[in-house]
Amino acid sequence: MADYEKLVWNETICAGCGICERSCPSEPGAIVITEGKAVIDYSLCDACGICVKECPVKALSFDVLA
Ligand code: SF4
Ligand code: SF4
Repeated sequence: MADYEKLVWNETICAGCGICERSCPSEPGAIVITEGKAVIDYSLCDACGICVKECPVKALSFDVLA
């Protein structure tokens, strides 16, 4: 049974807009766009899903890990 959802960033889809970074409620941000690449700090991400909803091109999703 799956018990943990891990945020996944799709580099080939991402437009580098930075909306995910600005929408993340974690402080400091759990997702940071640096030179067009998303860096996700899983120790800060609580898998709230806000960035997944806010991303205009659906480059973020959740992988469910068993
Ligand atoms: S899932 Fe929530 S906490 Fe994690 S990076 Fe996205 S907005 Fe931030
Ligand atoms: S909101 Fe989506 S397209 Fe914009 S930087 Fe984040 S992952 Fe990339």
